[in-house]
Amino acid sequence: MRHGIYENRILSVLKKEHLISISSIHKKIPEADFSTIFRTVDRLSTRGLVRAVHVNKDMVLYELSDEHNLHDHFLCVDCGNIETIVVTRNNIQTRNVGGIVDVLVRGHCLECIRK
Ligand SMILES: [Zn+2]
Ligand SMILES: [Zn+2]
Repeated sequence: MRHGIYENRILSVLKKEHLISISSIHKKIPEADFSTIFRTVDRLSTRGLVRAVHVNKDMVLYELSDEHNLHDHFLCVDCGNIETIVVTRNNIQTRNVGGIVDVLVRGHCLECIRK
């Protein structure tokens, strides 16, 4: 078993895409098994190179972790569009939280409100 042969391929896919599903990654690397892609992304995520964004209970999207460009996401519940936002960690009231991994804000985008 050769572990990690797809790691670099997946990382370069993620370099070009912001928030992508496992099946979309698979479409770009079709010669790999779906389960291999899944396990490799999972391993990259465990190692902190990839960040999983849980959009809802049925959808997880992935992006490169970038400590130098930390950002969060705004999800429009009407059209599903996701935008990058910056949430200042200092302003989040916490009681028993040691660290924040990500913040997902849900709301209505301006385009949907105007409809
Ligand atoms: Zn919208
Ligand atoms: Zn992002």
